[in-house]
Amino acid sequence: MSTIGILGGGQLARMLAIAGAPLGHRFLVVDSAEDACAAQVAPLMRADWRDFEALRKFAEQIDVATFDFENVPSETAEWLTAHTRVFPNPAALAVAQDRLVEKTLFGEIGLDTPVFAAVDSLADLRAAVDRTGLPAVLKTRRLGYDGKGQSILRQHSDIEAAWAALGGVPLILEAFVPFESEMSVIAVRSRSGEFRHYPLTRNWHRDGILSASLAPVLVDEDMERRAVARARALAERLDYVGVFALELFAWGDRLLGNEMAPRVHNSGHWTIEGTACSQFENHVRAVLGLPLGDTQAQGCSAMLNWIGELPDATPVLAEARAHWHDYGKSSRPGRKVGHATLCAASAAELIERLQRVGRALDREDHVAPVIAALEERG
Ligand code: AMP
Repeated sequence: MSTIGILGGGQLARMLAIAGAPLGHRFLVVDSAEDACAAQVAPLMRADWRDFEALRKFAEQIDVATFDFENVPSETAEWLTAHTRVFPNPAALAVAQDRLVEKTLFGEIGLDTPVFAAVDSLADLRAAVDRTGLPAVLKTRRLGYDGKGQSILRQHSDIEAAWAALGGVPLILEAFVPFESEMSVIAVRSRSGEFRHYPLTRNWHRDGILSASLAPVLVDEDMERRAVARARALAERLDYVGVFALELFAWGDRLLGNEMAPRVHNSGHWTIEGTACSQFENHVRAVLGLPLGDTQAQGCSAMLNWIGELPDATPVLAEARAHWHDYGKSSRPGRKVGHATLCAASAAELIERLQRVGRALDREDHVAPVIAALEERG
């Protein structure tokens, strides 16, 4: 029995603790929020990331530390490495915390990206627009997630307003990619260097927040092979241990790297019921140095995210092979409060389940793109 410490007590920590319990492991979550939802399933130490006295007590009680949140200050992650084992390592975390460093690394491992440029002044922004062309997306280099800290520039007259909205912190400008689809590779690397990946997942966003995922996505074998090869190269380059997500744009036959998440990821939630060993269990296995579990898909799965508030669970629970996840959080606009995963043996069966759930919840627009993708593949 080991005790895994998790920095961050949100739904990812909650699902990690739930996945690790059958293996006999204990968890200790550290978060400053009184209502951290992981505290409903694991002990919570309430402390600030920079409270080193509390972190010392935390480190004494655990065998290994990991994260449910990538924006833990790098001094905290570094400090912890002197007191306990920390996976993923702080250098890998630091790469994922800075969009400019991250995209530069993508280029180094042979993963194309949208054209990008660093922006630290209004003059930089004007020069960057000359490089990327328009439309383009201005993003904060650090602390952005779920579309926060982003502004789209469609014409030159948008430059000053975008600068006024985001300027003053380090920024990156990226060419806007008219992608056909967004995909992610969820992969895992263990302490011994064993690497496994789940099938490619297709993702749909609304207002910058993940709305739905479908897996496996049928793309040509060469595209899947390239995506997985880049994920593997990234993990090896960073000496990464644990689960991570590599988010990609598919544009024609090109694959462009958008970002990596150094943790279990929302687009991998379908793996809880859609595979023999979920991303959460594999993360626990990886950070403890255990053999990794089977990542193959069992049939096909669609995940619907509940943002802001939960709909009625009944129509989902009425379906065969449908799974409801309530994170135990209070409702708030833009907040991820739960998800549902619908699994099926065939695309046709999954389409029927999605149609019934969409109708019953009056969310036909939510399920429509997933159904369209399933119909496309026949
Ligand atoms: P991010 O926080 O960078 O993952 O961005 C959130 C979402 O905004 C992405 O999943 C895309 O849907 C969209 N987005 C971000 N960057 C770009 C881009 N360069 N071109 C087109 N869409 C983008």
